[in-house]
Amino acid sequence: MISPREVIQKKRDRQVLTPAEIASFIRGYMSSEVADYHVAAWLMAVYLNGMTIGETLALTREMRDSGRCLELSSIKSKKIDKHSTGGVGDKTSMIVAPIVAACGLTVPMITGRALGHTGGTLDKLESISGYDSRPSPEKVIRILKTVGAVIMGQTEDLAPADRRMYALRDVTGTIESIPLITASILSKKLAEQIDGLVIDVKTGSGAFMPTITMARDLARSLVDVCSLLKTKITVLITDMEQPLGRAVGNALEMKECIEFLKGNAPEDLETISIALAAHMLRLGGRAKSLDQALNMAHEVVSKGEAAERLRSIIRAHGGDVRVVDNPDLLPRTHFIEKFRSSATGFVTRCDARLLGLASNALGAGRNRVDDIIHPAVGLYLEKKVGDRVERGDVLCQIHWNDENRLRQAIPLIERGFEVKDRPATRRPLIHAVMEGLR
Ligand code: URA
Repeated sequence: MISPREVIQKKRDRQVLTPAEIASFIRGYMSSEVADYHVAAWLMAVYLNGMTIGETLALTREMRDSGRCLELSSIKSKKIDKHSTGGVGDKTSMIVAPIVAACGLTVPMITGRALGHTGGTLDKLESISGYDSRPSPEKVIRILKTVGAVIMGQTEDLAPADRRMYALRDVTGTIESIPLITASILSKKLAEQIDGLVIDVKTGSGAFMPTITMARDLARSLVDVCSLLKTKITVLITDMEQPLGRAVGNALEMKECIEFLKGNAPEDLETISIALAAHMLRLGGRAKSLDQALNMAHEVVSKGEAAERLRSIIRAHGGDVRVVDNPDLLPRTHFIEKFRSSATGFVTRCDARLLGLASNALGAGRNRVDDIIHPAVGLYLEKKVGDRVERGDVLCQIHWNDENRLRQAIPLIERGFEVKDRPATRRPLIHAVMEGLR
C-alpha cells in the first residue's frame, strides 16, 4: 500500500496523483488501513487545490467500485436515470420517472433524503402511507420489469465509500468542491449500471452552486468524467433562485406532483420536468429530436398515462394508491396561516434558500441526518417573482402544527419575500444544456 501520508502530502503540494495512488488511498480507507483523519486531511487538500479530470475519473471509478453495482443485466430496455444536485420545491423526480417509464424506458432511480435547506425525494414519497423505499434486490427487478420505474433509497452496498466520505465532508467543510461532488454523484449513479444519465445542476440562492460560473464548472466536470466512463450524459443547468413550483414540503409537494400528472401544472415546474424527461427519452433512443421527445412527454401526461404509471409505481412500492385520485388523503396539518404582503407592487424576490429554511424550521427537513421529518408541514406559494400584489394579498400559506416552529419560520418568510414598485427582470428557467457522449 502507498503511504497515506505521501498521498496527502502530494495533494497538499499541488501535485497530480496517479490512479494507483488514488486506488490505494480509497481501498485502504475501505479496509480501515487509512483512517478518517487521513481522509479528512486529504479532502481539505483536494478542496483547496482541486483535481485534474484524470484524478477525478480515478476517484469516481474507485468510489463506484467500493461496493456492489445493481445487477440489472436481465432488463433489456435502456436504463436511464436523472439526478438533481438539490433544491427547494424540486419534485421533478416523481414527475419524470412515470413519464419516462410510460414512454418505454427503464428508470432505476436511487435517490436521497432532505438535508439542510434542500428537500429529498424519499421523504416526499414516504409521505404516502405504506411506501417502501427499500425494496429487496429481487423486488427491484420485479418492479422494473413490470412497471418500468423504481424510486428507492441508497442501499448499504452501493458506493459505500461515498457514504463515508460524504459524512466526513459534511463535518470538515469540504462539501463544495467540484471534483468531490462529481465523484460523489457519478459513483452512485454509475453503480446503477445505467445506459444514460440526465443531471439537473441547480443554480441560484437555493442551490449548492449559487453562481452560473460554478454551475457551469460542475456541469463540465460531470460531462467529462461520465463520458470518459462511457456513459451517455446530458446536464441541464436550471434556476433555483426561487422554489420550483408552488409547494415546498413533503406531502404538499407530492400533491403538486399528482396534480401535475393530471394536467394541472405550474409553468416553471412543467417546463423543467418536461425538458428533463425529454432529454432522458433522447438519451434512451426513444426520440430522434428534442422536439419529438418533448411532444412524447407532453402526450403521456395529457393522455393520463403518466398518472397511471405513478399509480403503478406507488402500488409496487406498497404505498396507498388512493392518493392519486384523492391527494387530500396525504398527511395534512392542523393549521394553515396566511402570510400577507405588507406592500403593493410586484414580487421581486421569493428566495429559495430562505423559504427552504422556513419549511425546514416548520419541520419539513433535517439539520442532522437523524432528525424526524414532519410530512404535512411546509409552504404553498400563492405568489412568485413577477406577480403583481396588492397590500394584504396572500403571498404564501404556511402549513404548520407547532407554534414554536411557526415562530421560527415567520422571520425567514418575511426576509424571503420582497415586493417593490417595479418588476425585476426574470431569470431564465434553463440556463444551459451540455451534452456528453452521443
Ligand atoms: N449530491 C451528492 O450526491 N453528492 C455531493 O457531493 C453533492 C450533492
